[in-house]
Amino acid sequence: MCCLSTNETTSKSGQLIQRVRFGGSRTPAINLLVDLQRDLGLSYLFISHNLAVVEHISHRIAVMYLGRIVEYADKTTLFMRPGHPYTEALLSAVPVPDPAIKRRKTVLEGDVPSPANPPPGCRFHTRCPYVKERCRTETPLLREIAPGQHAACHFSESVMAGFARPAAGVISPSSPSSTSA
Ligand code: SF4
Repeated sequence: MCCLSTNETTSKSGQLIQRVRFGGSRTPAINLLVDLQRDLGLSYLFISHNLAVVEHISHRIAVMYLGRIVEYADKTTLFMRPGHPYTEALLSAVPVPDPAIKRRKTVLEGDVPSPANPPPGCRFHTRCPYVKERCRTETPLLREIAPGQHAACHFSESVMAGFARPAAGVISPSSPSSTSA
């Protein structure tokens, strides 16, 4: 297994796919990693906050918030039907390469709390558009919400029911109360 952290290389420049010199030709770096993965049977632990690149290279995805895994699923399931509000918000920020397609964006309010002093109950409750009273006191466990899909949210079923991704492959969250900063 190989551990790759790509926060700088995939998102700082704003480019989805970085290019590198390889064998005398310009080859997209991420595609090179995918080729090596396929040809050599490699496994990567790929760490990034660029979800477009994560979707391109990953088979299974774990989403973390304040140092905890809040959702874990195969790529298709996670992108098509996220079960955690934080995943939903992240997906709503993925660029859509088609100006004709409109998409509502979920912008989370507030700052990320300190991991050294996390909020009680659900760590995401101070920013969650789905928050209810129970969330402020009861820590949600990571549980199986669908075959192979795990999420740490008391109300994952509602989150999944409110999210739809059009056939065109465009992410389109329809959360009950999207927020704006
Ligand atoms: S448990 Fe509550 S606050 Fe936490 S993610 Fe779910 S709905 Fe939001």
